[in-house]
Amino acid sequence: METVKLNNGVEMPQLGFGVFQVTDLEQCEQAVVDAISSGYRLIDTAAAYQNETAVGRAIKRSGVDRKELFITSKLWVSDANFERAQKAIETSLDNLGVDYLDLYLLHQPYGDVSGAWRALEDAYKAGKIHAIGVSNFYADQLKNLELSNEIKPVLNQIEVNPWYQQNSEVNFNQGEDIRVEAWAPFAEGKHDIFANKTIKGIADKYNKSNGQVILRWLLQRGITVIPKSVHKNRMEENIDVFDFKLTDDEMKVMNGLDKGESQFFDHRDPVTIEQIFGTSLAKLK
Ligand code: NAP
Repeated sequence: METVKLNNGVEMPQLGFGVFQVTDLEQCEQAVVDAISSGYRLIDTAAAYQNETAVGRAIKRSGVDRKELFITSKLWVSDANFERAQKAIETSLDNLGVDYLDLYLLHQPYGDVSGAWRALEDAYKAGKIHAIGVSNFYADQLKNLELSNEIKPVLNQIEVNPWYQQNSEVNFNQGEDIRVEAWAPFAEGKHDIFANKTIKGIADKYNKSNGQVILRWLLQRGITVIPKSVHKNRMEENIDVFDFKLTDDEMKVMNGLDKGESQFFDHRDPVTIEQIFGTSLAKLK
C-alpha cells in the first residue's frame, strides 16, 4: 500500500477501509478481518459508529502486527469539551484494545472545539495518538482552529465524491498542507453512481469498475479514500486501483460531474446542527 507523509511526519496509507453504518458487531468484525486480509491497513471508525469494540476484536484476529495497521477513530460532539474529550480518548483506546491511535479526529466542528482540541493535543504529546485532525471543518473553521491552538491538524475528513467535489475546500486544505480524506467517496451509491454511463465509459477502457475509476480520480487529486463495503469481493475490487492511471482528459470528464451540493446534509445548516446534537450520543452540557 502506497503511503503519504502527513504534516507531522507520520506515514499514512492512501487508501483505507471505513465502517460507518456497520452496526451489526459480528458483521463489522468479519468485515474488518476480511479487509485486512485483502490488504487494507487503514481502518476508519468513530465513537459514534458504536463498533470500535468489533474493530478491536478484528485487529487482534487479523494476525497483522499492530505497527503495520493505521487505526483512526473520532470524537463525537457529545464529548466535545476538554474534560469529556480526555475520557473519550481513553474509552476509544479501551474499546479498540490498543495502546495508541494512529489518527484521532474531531468528528464535527461543533461544541467546545478548542477545549476538545487541547485534550487531543495533550494525548498527542503523551504518545497516545500519533496524529490529530478534524472532520467536516470548512476553511474558516479550520483556520480559526489553527490560529487559536498550538498544533495544526494533519488531516480534514470531508465529503468528496463525483457529485460533490468541494474544489475550493480541497484546494484550501491542500494549500495549508492538511491532507484531505474523502468520506462517502461513492456518495453511498446515490444517483446510480456504480452504473453511471459517463464513468463507465472511462472504466471500460481500463477493464475496471465505476467504483475503481472514482477512487483513482480521488487519489490522483491527492485525496485519501476510505470506501466501505461488507462484501469481500468489493473490498478486493476497491483496493485494486494502483495499476492504472486516468489521463488529464479523463480527469476533466470526472471533474465535470460535480452537482455542487452535498449528497447528505449541509454542515452549515442550523437544522443539521440541531440534528447532530440531537442524536442519542449528544448529551453535551
Ligand atoms: P461509500 O464508501 O461512499 O459507499 C458505501 C456503499 O457503497 C455501501 O452501500 C457499499 O455496499 C457500496 N459499495 C462499496 N463498494 C462497492 C463496489 N465496489 N460496488 C458496488 N457497491 C459498492 O459510503 P460511506 O460508508 O458513507 O463512506 C466511507 C467511509 O467514510 C465510512 O465508512 C466512514 O468510515 C467514513 N465517513 C465519515 C463521515 C464523517 O462525517 N466523518 C461520514 C460518512 C462516512 P456494501 O457494503 O453492501 O458492499
